[in-house]
Amino acid sequence: LDPEEFKRQGHMIIDFLADYYKNIHKYPVRSQVKPGYLKNRLPESAPNDAEPIESILKDIQNDIIPGLTHWQSPRYFAYFPFSTSIAGFLGEMLSAGLCVNAFSWITSPAATELESIVMNWLGKMLSLPESFLFSGNGGGVLQGTASEAILCTIIAARDRMLNKIGRANICKLVVYGSDQTHSCVQKGAHIAGIHPKNFRAIATSKSNAFSLPVESLRSTILADIEAGLVPFFLCATVGTTTSTAVDPVGLLCHVAKDYNIWVHVDAAYAGSACICPEFRHFIDGVENVDSFSFNAHKWLFTNFDCCCLWVRDPSALIKALSISPEYLKNKETESKQVVDYKDWQIGLSRRFRALKLWLVLRSYGVANIRNFLRSHVRLAKHFEGLVAKDKRFEIVVPRTFSMVCFRLLPPIPLVEMTSDVGDSRDQIVTIHEARVNELNMKLLESINDSGEASLTHGVLGGVYIIRFVVAATLTEERHVNMAWKAVQGHADALVP
Ligand code: PLP
Repeated sequence: LDPEEFKRQGHMIIDFLADYYKNIHKYPVRSQVKPGYLKNRLPESAPNDAEPIESILKDIQNDIIPGLTHWQSPRYFAYFPFSTSIAGFLGEMLSAGLCVNAFSWITSPAATELESIVMNWLGKMLSLPESFLFSGNGGGVLQGTASEAILCTIIAARDRMLNKIGRANICKLVVYGSDQTHSCVQKGAHIAGIHPKNFRAIATSKSNAFSLPVESLRSTILADIEAGLVPFFLCATVGTTTSTAVDPVGLLCHVAKDYNIWVHVDAAYAGSACICPEFRHFIDGVENVDSFSFNAHKWLFTNFDCCCLWVRDPSALIKALSISPEYLKNKETESKQVVDYKDWQIGLSRRFRALKLWLVLRSYGVANIRNFLRSHVRLAKHFEGLVAKDKRFEIVVPRTFSMVCFRLLPPIPLVEMTSDVGDSRDQIVTIHEARVNELNMKLLESINDSGEASLTHGVLGGVYIIRFVVAATLTEERHVNMAWKAVQGHADALVP
């Protein structure tokens, strides 16, 4: 690793990336390539001899960039975006450059201690109760993804319960969420050995804005107990993936506590907004939950990967995940004065993720980060206003954060369909809804195929919706206007 060569190539890569960002608006947002495009462009085997960075960069420009969907494009409104920033990127670069493996305190004390400090900072920004902070005997850890964080909490909750009722009873354990809960909870339960039949996706409806109904939770738990099963884990979501619905954390906790259920709050996207006082009420009740996570890489300008997880009882995690082979033993661990984050996660090795979060928090400051989040919410509100003005469209659910769920409602005359199905009104309505769904699928496909903007979809109570999320760092009002023009233009082409 020659420092001079490292400097030369490093500068070239930074220049390459700076040019990428300068030109990012020119690329079609969603990649336009066809499956298998790359194998026609690259050799079948690795080169035997070294190749210069110049030719590698040329191939990145010519062969790799066309196969990217530009998640950092200002016209990227799909899924939940991955937000970046100069500080987020540079922090990531520093972490890659220093390349330490911080699984135990001794393997890089600064990485562990910075992680604990930054998690306390963030916990305070969210006004989490003291019991989640290290100072209150809880603590925070950085993981790669929400899926991993939630899996860890399911495992901790599982072992807490099995230690009480005996390991042989694992087949009785039941996990609760709603039909809007992210699939990673079901996957986590599956990996944790929970019987596939014992995942309860409690039905939500438009009437309660797709949030988890508290009384249904109670009656489902009671029915399970009656059937000899053992409720042990509830995932409440703040900001669901399809529609950013918010489950009533406080009320759900009241039910869960009666049955000694571990409550996790998954705020993967919306957790960031809760650092703003005006959004903090969405996590009211968090003082009664066992664990809380959100992804700083989704909407806190910190490069992927960076999922923040807090637990009120770290010993539950550690008991479930700790293992101490001889070759990892050291006197600091034995002193019990240090945190060994290997015991708070699935893998052993771990990245120095705290660095990028620390850089983001220091480089921008809490006030600026809050204002930036607010600007995204304002842009989403602006988009919502544009949709509402065009009578061909419908806002499907009220906006909560920076996402708008909408659909095109075409003037398909009901009478036109009666000839297909006779005169049953229910059948006509069903066919009408199916046609509207189909039309919206076409609309979305046509927008994405054009490369003008990237949006994704969801289905809410059988209704196909288009999701428009403002969370990309470079998005400004003009990009929102461009995206709306694209939506209208493609709608015009479909429904002249
Ligand atoms: N939870 C929610 C609400 C999400 O929206 C997502 C992903 O978008 C996840 C969990 C899974 O996140 P990850 O990809 O970090 O596992």
